[in-house]
Amino acid sequence: LTFPREAAILTESRPLRELIRISEVSLRPTDPGRLRGGSLDLPRTGSTSEAGGLEVAGWALLEESGAGRAEFLAGGTLRGVAPLEVRRLDVYRHFGSDPDAEFCGFQGWIAAGAADGKVEVDIVRDDGLRIPFAVISLESGPPPGTPPDRSRPGGIILMYHRIANITSDPWSLAVDPAHFAEQMDCLRKEFVVVPLARVREETANGSLARGAVAVTFDDGYADNLSLARPILERFEIPATVFVTTGALGASGELWWDELDRILLQPGRLPETLDLPIGGERFEALLGPAVSYGAEEARRHRPWRFGRRPPGPRQIVYGRLWDRLFSLDSLGRRRAMDSLRHWAGAGEQARPSHRTLRPDEALQLEVAGLIELGAHTVSHPALSRLPADAQRIEIEASASALEKILHRRPRSFAYPFGDFDEGTPNLLREAGFREAVTTAGTGIEPAADPLLLPRIQVCDWEGDEFAGRLTARLAESSRSSG
Ligand SMILES: [Zn+2]
Repeated sequence: LTFPREAAILTESRPLRELIRISEVSLRPTDPGRLRGGSLDLPRTGSTSEAGGLEVAGWALLEESGAGRAEFLAGGTLRGVAPLEVRRLDVYRHFGSDPDAEFCGFQGWIAAGAADGKVEVDIVRDDGLRIPFAVISLESGPPPGTPPDRSRPGGIILMYHRIANITSDPWSLAVDPAHFAEQMDCLRKEFVVVPLARVREETANGSLARGAVAVTFDDGYADNLSLARPILERFEIPATVFVTTGALGASGELWWDELDRILLQPGRLPETLDLPIGGERFEALLGPAVSYGAEEARRHRPWRFGRRPPGPRQIVYGRLWDRLFSLDSLGRRRAMDSLRHWAGAGEQARPSHRTLRPDEALQLEVAGLIELGAHTVSHPALSRLPADAQRIEIEASASALEKILHRRPRSFAYPFGDFDEGTPNLLREAGFREAVTTAGTGIEPAADPLLLPRIQVCDWEGDEFAGRLTARLAESSRSSG
């Protein structure tokens, strides 16, 4: 395979997308009787965006009723809405007595360009009261005297999990197949797509092309073979798939999916939950959410972990997730057994949520295009394990893959992006050449090949995907300057 469009982003004279400069971000004076506090974290004065849009994020704590939304208007037209529902522990710590302070953050993406001049941010209370909140002034072109440095490396590694259309997705793991095809089409046309191994090599010798993008998948869902592979092949996009080897051929689901199946899918559950989980008693009352209808579940579909839970089912899901996350794999298996028993649920995976079988894992590899890497055996948070147990998780997942592929895997992804200072060394000892985190930034020139950051891709349409990627690349070329 060749990569004919390589370097196109660097050498073609046509500007990729309009360059926007954020000339001023100012908060409007507000009546303290309406708003207890608020701030815009993004964008920042003096920053630039090469995208056809802006990421806008901040928080607003309303007086009295905590419910509301942020509206983004450009040229008097509504361009985006973001509810006040994102968890903001920083604000909560400050306004600790106010329960609304925990979920008062907002974040959104708006398509806007320099020609729009200004983006106005209003906070709108659920009863309709509109509070002018902030103004973001846009100009075209880079800030005077500081052109973006195109000689510097700057690349990003994308993190996907699943290509699927599912009914609830608290962790934003699924990208709709049609959106994934748009995203891959955009990668092919506008970016320099490289295999992960090349990111490592070229970062090490300083030759990584600006605009280089590598694609990765975590966990080993069966849809990586049935839905992702054909699209990757169609657009000739190289990718690395990190497989949780303990889940290969498993009849059940990964534990976070099982939690979703038990709590977030329509059906009846007992009224009270009172189980020992990880040696501690876990109690919850489902109240009116004992029976959960299809219509209600459909309305709750956009809910994401870290956002204000719309009902008791989501509250219990969140509390259980926190508790299960901190258990070891045996404790978690026991807890899942008792939860399943409590719910009267079976163990069989939903076809939409099953993981790869070993023969499918082998089939997923495509020489020169799709490569498998390791993701431990049981998907633990490695920093919570002693070094010996970490070594076993790492080594056993490498040898399980070696049995299937007849070669040692050379790349690794840290489950939950979690590790301690000894983990990279254990990977080196096990023969891994590169490893990826979930750090959410672009690649710095001197990046450690065993700690390469990644950016999670959500279910974005092609245009939003392109906008967010170019914005990230602009950021990473600035920060490396
Ligand atoms: Zn994972």
